[in-house]
Parts: sequence; structure tokens; C-alpha cells
Amino acid sequence: MTYVVTENCIKCKYMDCVEVCPVDCFYAGENMLVIHPDECIDCGVCEPECPAQAIKPDTTPGLEEWLTLNREYAARWPNITTKGASPADAKEWDGIADKRDHFSPNPHGTKPRSERTISGVGPGTGTAQSAE
Ligand code: SF4
Ligand code: SF4
Repeated sequence: MTYVVTENCIKCKYMDCVEVCPVDCFYAGENMLVIHPDECIDCGVCEPECPAQAIKPDTTPGLEEWLTLNREYAARWPNITTKGASPADAKEWDGIADKRDHFSPNPHGTKPRSERTISGVGPGTGTAQSAE
């Protein structure tokens, strides 16, 4: 069993959840977080912390799509352990139906290379690396 971040996180991304996770298994996209299903220890601590009620146990019916998405993007996005700034319009997006179309596959901190400073992202995972 694992906990899963679901649709209502999209464009809300409050990030209250990341600070309580004892095993740091949240990963950050541009406008949503996901949980790594193989790292989550099913403690359930994050579920009540989410103001958007977007975190559910995978025993909740109908979450297969979101479990797949959590697994896929946990492997692609940087780990996040510290709460950053929420989107200014997070409250307006909270509870909006059918936000799936607004999902961004981009990782947290997607900005022009020169502006990349990623707050709250673990070392070695999301920091901009210059090849020059
Ligand atoms: S607290 Fe909820 S809405 Fe915020 S990032 Fe975590 S899962 Fe998403
Ligand atoms: S259920 Fe526990 S281990 Fe899993 S993501 Fe939430 S806080 Fe982390």
C-alpha cells in the first residue's frame, strides 16, 4: 500500500505535506507533487496535512490513473523536503473539477537556466547543473 497524490493537487501545490513525511518520498513537478509508491511507508501522516485533500490511500477506488502518474513522475522529478511558496492562485484552483488537463510534466523549478534556484529541493536532485 502507498499514499497517492491526486488531481486536486494540480495548481494548488501547497506543499504542507512534504515537511511531515518521515521518509522524504515526495517529488516535485512544476504544478503538482507526487509520492514515490515504493518509498512511502504508509504512515498516513501527510493525508490530513493537505489543505486540498489531495492525498489518498491507494485503497481508495478509482485511483489507478493517479498511482501510475505518481510512480512515473517520482522517477523523473526532483525530491522535495521543504515547503516552498505556494502558487498565488492556489486557493482559486482548489476544488476545481477536471484539472487533469492542467497537469504539467515539467519538473519543479522549470525556469530559464540563468534563473534556476530551486527552493526546498534536496541536494543533487534538482539543482541546475551547468555543462559549460
Ligand atoms: S499539501 Fe496537498 S495540495 Fe499541497 S502539495 Fe501536498 S498534496 Fe499537493
Ligand atoms: S503516507 Fe507517510 S511515508 Fe507516505 S508519503 Fe505520506 S507521510 Fe510520507
